[in-house]
Amino acid sequence: MVLQEASLELKGDLVSEITRLKLERNAIILAHNYQRPEVQDIADFVGDSLGLARTAAAADADVIIFCGVHFMAETSSILSPEKKVLIPDLNAGCSLADTITAEELRRWKKRHPGVVVVSYVNTTADVKAESDYCCTSTNAVKVVNSIPADKEVLLVPDIYLGAYVERMTGRRMHLWPGQCHVHAKLTPEAITRLRDERPNAEFLIHPECGCITNAMYYLGEGKISGKGTHILSTDGMLKCARNSTSTEFIVATETGILHQLTKQNPGKQFFPAKDDAVCEYMKMITLQKVHYSLRDMIHEVKVPAAIAGKARLALERMVSVN
Ligand code: SF4
Repeated sequence: MVLQEASLELKGDLVSEITRLKLERNAIILAHNYQRPEVQDIADFVGDSLGLARTAAAADADVIIFCGVHFMAETSSILSPEKKVLIPDLNAGCSLADTITAEELRRWKKRHPGVVVVSYVNTTADVKAESDYCCTSTNAVKVVNSIPADKEVLLVPDIYLGAYVERMTGRRMHLWPGQCHVHAKLTPEAITRLRDERPNAEFLIHPECGCITNAMYYLGEGKISGKGTHILSTDGMLKCARNSTSTEFIVATETGILHQLTKQNPGKQFFPAKDDAVCEYMKMITLQKVHYSLRDMIHEVKVPAAIAGKARLALERMVSVN
């Protein structure tokens, strides 16, 4: 009991110190939905990767403390080159982004001259710079549909998102065989079992990250039921939970998003489609590391101007298709 009180006091001190340093440095803290609850609670803005990048660009701040994974911090740096973007742990990577390098993509493009490369936002800045378009899982279908039908398309790196887009557009594409290690845990059997146990629950799919593209794919293939199923952005998911008369929801995504859903909807119950669908990279960021990063101004993420310029073009094309 004494120990627990001491650790709460310590957490309180840490939060006060972070708040003080934030003002001193004219910094804002951005946290992805998959972050630890205590990190989400000290953030000025919690959202999905695109929401975070847009907030970073619009913020009147000199420093961005980016609580998410490395490729997301790079996107913020590309869209806000005048700001200092710090990530509390430089090792917070992404297994999906790691499945393709810029060198591999260049070699592939050489063998397929004229191909249009669409890269999911879960890629490094170097890979984005080699791409014609970026896309999110929400607008991937629209992006591909905007490309003339006679063009060859390569979609990297998520094979599940690629298969889903092929099905929705009826177009054959080249697909990179990458996948996120978290989504391997979300099987159609596990999802169906949980839904059978809670037949009144609505089923929410959050198409933010590679951890969920396979659920979209299963839905497209009819391997999971579409009844009571909603594919929603972060805001859409929060709104749906608020406005729905249902009191039970099964949520297919990394478990971090349950924190905001539960916080904003007392009296409603949220169940993860798989409770071990946890991204260890996201959870590398702790309050202690946020404090160190802000105090010592360490772990800057800066994309070289030449790479940032090309990557920005692909990102701008993605936004223009939205
Ligand atoms: S959940 Fe998967 S795709 Fe998303 S950041 Fe983690 S490893 Fe990458």
